[in-house]
Amino acid sequence: MLRLEGLSASYRGLKALQGIDVAVGHGEIVAVVGANGAGKSTLLKAIAGQVATEGSIRFEDTDLKRLPSHQIARLGVNLVPEGRRLFPRLSVEDNLRLGAYAKRGTADRFKPLELVFELFPRLKERLPQQAGTLSGGEQQMLAIGRALMTQPRLLMLDEPSQGIMPKLVDDILAAVTRIRDLGVTVLLVEQRLVEALAIADRAYVLQTGRIVMSGPAAEIAGHADVRRAYLGI
Ligand code: ATP
Repeated sequence: MLRLEGLSASYRGLKALQGIDVAVGHGEIVAVVGANGAGKSTLLKAIAGQVATEGSIRFEDTDLKRLPSHQIARLGVNLVPEGRRLFPRLSVEDNLRLGAYAKRGTADRFKPLELVFELFPRLKERLPQQAGTLSGGEQQMLAIGRALMTQPRLLMLDEPSQGIMPKLVDDILAAVTRIRDLGVTVLLVEQRLVEALAIADRAYVLQTGRIVMSGPAAEIAGHADVRRAYLGI
């Protein structure tokens, strides 16, 4: 579905990504794990068309590098960014409805609301509440819900567990699995290695801008180097 080849990116001469090869198949959850500053967010932004790159990014038959970010989103490639970027003064309901903005004019544009409420019943209870007053976990649910309103085919999540209490992290990752089961392919960036690898099919380990390891998630989780470097085992 998605193939990155020889992808590099730099910020004012400083390399953030170097020669990245990543493939994501239909219906997979693929995790990208690595320490702070490894380049995980840059990788997702590159795919979303928000960062200039060298190398190739193909989504099915389309060369994403030729497209501006709004057209990439229109193909069904959607990024839930780090920090969520909600409209804090708008209600939960309005944030969700704005997610469907690109689908305006289509009869079924609010249809994904049912799915969002099923995945995150807390959001349904809080429809009139200002998004900025939600807890961190609820805001993450809303950010994912808003992304689902765009009816994505590839959903990219940048550290959904950030700043969230452990109980809600489990709920959110369970929802991610369910989203995949409903047919949405997921590219998940996480610092929480154990949790991410538990739900992923395959994984890539990113270290200072390079892929240093890749394979089935269970294999990566059991790899001695990974355990030593990231889990202190
Ligand atoms: P984190 O988990 O801390 O977000 P990350 O793995 O997502 O880390 P990136 O945010 O992709 O890493 O950053 C990769 C490198 O690029 C870092 O050295 C970072 O300082 C640098 N970088 C990221 N964004 C910019 C920017 N807008 N301008 C300059 N340098 C940047």
